[in-house]
Amino acid sequence: MTQPIPLFSMQAANAGVDVLEPIRKVIESHWYVLGREVADFESEFARYLGIDHCVGVANGTDALEIALRAVGVGPGDPVITCANAGFYSSTAVRAIGAIPVYIDIDPATMTLSPARLEEALTHVPARAIVATHLYGRLADIESLAEIAAARAVPLLEDCAQAHGATRGGRKAGTFGTISAFSFYPTKNLGAAGDGGAIACRDAALAQRVKQLRQYGWGAKYKVELAGGRNSRLDELQAAILRAKLPFLDQWNQARRTIARHYNAAFAGLPVQLPACDGDDHVAHLYVLRTRERDALRQYLEGQGIASEIHYPIPDHLQPVAAGGAPPFALPETEAACASVVTLPCFPGLTDEQAERVAQAVRRFFQREESR
Ligand SMILES: *Cc1c(COP(=O)(O)O)cnc(C)c1O
Repeated sequence: MTQPIPLFSMQAANAGVDVLEPIRKVIESHWYVLGREVADFESEFARYLGIDHCVGVANGTDALEIALRAVGVGPGDPVITCANAGFYSSTAVRAIGAIPVYIDIDPATMTLSPARLEEALTHVPARAIVATHLYGRLADIESLAEIAAARAVPLLEDCAQAHGATRGGRKAGTFGTISAFSFYPTKNLGAAGDGGAIACRDAALAQRVKQLRQYGWGAKYKVELAGGRNSRLDELQAAILRAKLPFLDQWNQARRTIARHYNAAFAGLPVQLPACDGDDHVAHLYVLRTRERDALRQYLEGQGIASEIHYPIPDHLQPVAAGGAPPFALPETEAACASVVTLPCFPGLTDEQAERVAQAVRRFFQREESR
């Protein structure tokens, strides 16, 4: 009996990293929240990104929310974002009482369409734009940044799936005004619990972020900034992240190798493959598109191979979304949500396992063809 292949394995992904020693160090230091480990992680991650400031927070969704507050988003403000990225940006926007305004994606990359952004900005007085580097692929971020800058609208990069993605020598999180990271355990850089960070170039902006993550304090017990939260990264998570950061590039490479293996194996099949050839894709998720998604998933399940849908329901069609048609039509977004399927792709997935996945997918489509 062959072993089932999971979508992700924490055990395989963590192999070879000693996290026990860093944990021990923190416990013996008796300092648990916002201490040395957090400060050191913040400067090490900033250096890794090639940016001036990094501020640790409690999770990726808080990072989005606090970043939006820091650039001045308040209640009632329109914020442009995509609707195919799991409702994370919507959660952050709505937590502020701001209004998500969804624009359509580019079907080739499944990230924000620069043309749609240009068009939307002529109609909507947007207070900020969120660009999600979905599945680990950098969005068309140079174009988006240029359009945002021309109108002086702050651009927030959601890098929760794109730690280390690089284009033209620049890393995800260094193109926009400010950027948000998640260190949820399954992310490319994952903690042993929740964690997040915000990065930016501007010192005054970083200072506002630091205040907002801790009650709006300017000094201890002096609340200077409205909209403050309690959203701190703890020392244990920071120490674990410091132990794991040196492995990030090699883990990204391992993910990319699996993605390329799949792309080579699936050439010629009636599917849309992800563009994952370059360093601008860190293969957080290997996502292909097919009209036969449900049948494929059922077949794979029978073969002991896990799969998932990231994400099945576009934000504007979620049960909690206020009814009524969104201001812009979202045909590409809806088509993507109806056809995407995610296959196992994580560091520690063996060549043999990847080949088993590849062959199962090929067998499925060959079987379909011969019907
Ligand atoms: C995981 C994720 C988040 C949220 O991060 P949490 O740490 O789970 O709050 C935000 N955006 C994207 C694109 C994500 O994948």
